[in-house]
Amino acid sequence: MSLATVSLGISTPDTLPAIGQGTWFMGEGRAPRSREIAALQRGLERGLRLIDTAEMYADGEAESVVGEALAGRRDQAYVVSKVYPWNASSSGAIAACEASLKRLNTDYLDLYLLHWPGNVPLEETLEAFERLTNAGKIRHFGVSNFDVEDMQALSSVPGSSHCAVNQVLYHLASRGIEVALRPWQRQHRIPLMAYCPLAQAGGVGPDPLRDPELQALAAEHQLSPAQLLLAWAIRPIDGSRDVIAIPKAATPDHVDDNAKALEVTLDEATLARLDELYPAPSTRVPLDIV
Ligand code: NDP
Repeated sequence: MSLATVSLGISTPDTLPAIGQGTWFMGEGRAPRSREIAALQRGLERGLRLIDTAEMYADGEAESVVGEALAGRRDQAYVVSKVYPWNASSSGAIAACEASLKRLNTDYLDLYLLHWPGNVPLEETLEAFERLTNAGKIRHFGVSNFDVEDMQALSSVPGSSHCAVNQVLYHLASRGIEVALRPWQRQHRIPLMAYCPLAQAGGVGPDPLRDPELQALAAEHQLSPAQLLLAWAIRPIDGSRDVIAIPKAATPDHVDDNAKALEVTLDEATLARLDELYPAPSTRVPLDIV
């Protein structure tokens, strides 16, 4: 059984399992900290190598949870964090990254993302990312919540060809990126990281996880609704995968459930049925953001 993987942007040889782990709302006391740590460690054991966090989440506490989960196993994980747009200046990004590294208890990030477009000129942010790369503090950089125009603007900035990824909201009930952003990124060989892949935010219509029709379709294939959603999000297009989904799960059973979706390839009939239930828009819509 081959597991789904995605190659990152053209400037990095990194290939990762197509499902990783989110951390938004960790470190806030919604679940016991020990359970959040155990869930992340279970994910690593199940092959969910990529852990996505941000200085924003729980004011840095989510990064601290990740740091604790990684004690003695940093090399097993591919750690992604994000800088606030207002911290993404030449000196601000360096300071923000150093603070993230401290909370994460590591001396490097695998990937550092600009969390969303802001007012600091991209030239300045990319220059800071380059300095962080040269200092060995980040291995790669990328962006998040960038729509097509933002990606086009980025592509004219020196050094932007090294952009490894754009992380955006993408799930079965929010398919707007399929019209223009995803084709643009595929053309430029910049993969997508899909946040909220279990559709717990953003989108229109019924919540797919709780939609009886989707639940019935999942059951037909001996899948959970979450596995169906994840297998759909990471499905290859024209034979190649370009999406890494990053579900957040503080419940170890959810982690197991999500990891199994790495083994699932949906057939054409199932994909067509999902298109009927949750059609993609036919014209461009603004990028969905939470
Ligand atoms: P998700 O779509 O990942 O949904 C998370 C919810 O789904 C949690 O309540 C979780 O419960 C539950 N869940 C997880 N696995 C299962 C399962 N197998 N069956 C049923 N329920 C399940 O939403 P998020 O908003 O957390 O997005 C994922 C990640 O994306 C974030 O954590 C963050 O890292 C990133 N993100 C990035 C943004 C950006 O601007 N770049 C914005 C938003 C998110 P439980 O925790 O109890 O297991």
